[in-house]
Amino acid sequence: MNRENSQSVIKNLQAISATFAKDTAERQTRRELDPADFEQLAEAGFLLTGVPAEQGGLWRGIAESVRDYTTMVRTLAHGDPCVALVATMHPAVMVYFLGCEQVNDAPQAWLAQRQSVIELARNHWWGTVTSEPGSGGDMLKTKTAAKKSADGIDTSYTISGNKHFGSGSGHADYMITTARRKGAEGPDLFYLKIKDEPWDGSTGCTLASAWDGIGMTATQSHAFRFENFPATKTITSELLGKVSPITAVIGNLLFAAVAMGIADNALSFAKDKLKGKLQNMRAYERIEWNRCRNEIWLAQQAFEGAVRAAEASGVSAGQAAIRCKITVSELLESALTKMSIVVGGASFAKGMPLAQWNQDVRALGFLRPPLPFAHDLIFDMDTDDI
Ligand SMILES: Cc1cc2nc3c(=O)[nH]c(=O)nc-3n(C[C@H](O)[C@H](O)[C@H](O)COP(=O)(O)OP(=O)(O)OC[C@H]3O[C@@H](n4cnc5c(N)ncnc54)[C@H](O)[C@@H]3O)c2cc1C
Repeated sequence: MNRENSQSVIKNLQAISATFAKDTAERQTRRELDPADFEQLAEAGFLLTGVPAEQGGLWRGIAESVRDYTTMVRTLAHGDPCVALVATMHPAVMVYFLGCEQVNDAPQAWLAQRQSVIELARNHWWGTVTSEPGSGGDMLKTKTAAKKSADGIDTSYTISGNKHFGSGSGHADYMITTARRKGAEGPDLFYLKIKDEPWDGSTGCTLASAWDGIGMTATQSHAFRFENFPATKTITSELLGKVSPITAVIGNLLFAAVAMGIADNALSFAKDKLKGKLQNMRAYERIEWNRCRNEIWLAQQAFEGAVRAAEASGVSAGQAAIRCKITVSELLESALTKMSIVVGGASFAKGMPLAQWNQDVRALGFLRPPLPFAHDLIFDMDTDDI
């Protein structure tokens, strides 16, 4: 597939997103995902974000794919931020397997397994249930234990531990996670075949708490207790070091794109609300409106700058991507608060979309790497970029 194919998927997504947007009021009351939404996205070609172009998919490496992929999820956020975030997990996870040139010297058995994962991605949704309570979003703090199964298959394990924030639980066919093998230096990546598993513990997966997020309410980002639950070992901790820089660029920019899409919604709603009122606004409202517009403008500059950095330097754009995620998250949270003040008290009402978008946009600060961890990472990086 080439750029034209990505463009046609974007066009399909624009049409779907426009239909979703007509039901914003109802969608904002949802606490669950609608499988029909994801069937439409699959038909639109979105699952092919997890397949390389030379195999009929959309992935053409970081530099060539970053703009199209971020446009796809930003477009989806225009229709439904929860659907956008859950869908985003598919390419965000698949880039662990798509980082071709970084892992071409990897063991043959893993390259074969990677190919089988790519085949699955054509028709199946992937997600991640990696976060652990107390880890602050740092995968290296994984406590979940992995135990070799007795079936003699090299990649066959069971995992035991607590995981939370598994966006798309019950929707995703497969989910990646981290766990530690006895004696291993760091955690390895495993994947779980999880879609139809019962959540009553009978097969080792117990729903610990259902997602009750104040934002991104329908993402089914549930918490689970796993007890001897079957898992397939995939990316070892040594290999993780090679693919993580790719996920850092793409993951940060995809998550930021979802937040930018929410800000697009909020800004067009506010402009509409303030039509004919702008000239009569009080001095304070004018200033807050200017500040809100400045912050959204700055967020867009940060986002565009980081996308260009990824287009120019691919995997070396990690610093720009993480700076972008931090900056966009801080600016948009602040901008939407100011926007609410200017739009007026009604923006505090549940019946108005702005109140919910205000909460949804805050998710960016918690998504991996959450702000405290992200600030540590950027502080420790070489900062000669300005
Ligand atoms: C909308 C959203 C979607 C996310 N999607 C994913 C995903 O798909 N996969 C993934 O691996 N991570 C996901 N994350 C998690 C994210 O990547 C970070 O790992 C996480 O936000 C880290 O949280 P923390 O820094 O508060 O650290 P933590 O140290 O993990 O602290 C979280 C604390 O909150 C408590 N807690 C969590 N949920 C609840 C609850 N429902 N009720 C009461 N207490 C609770 C925990 O017990 C813990 O004490 C998502 C986060 C958000 C906000």
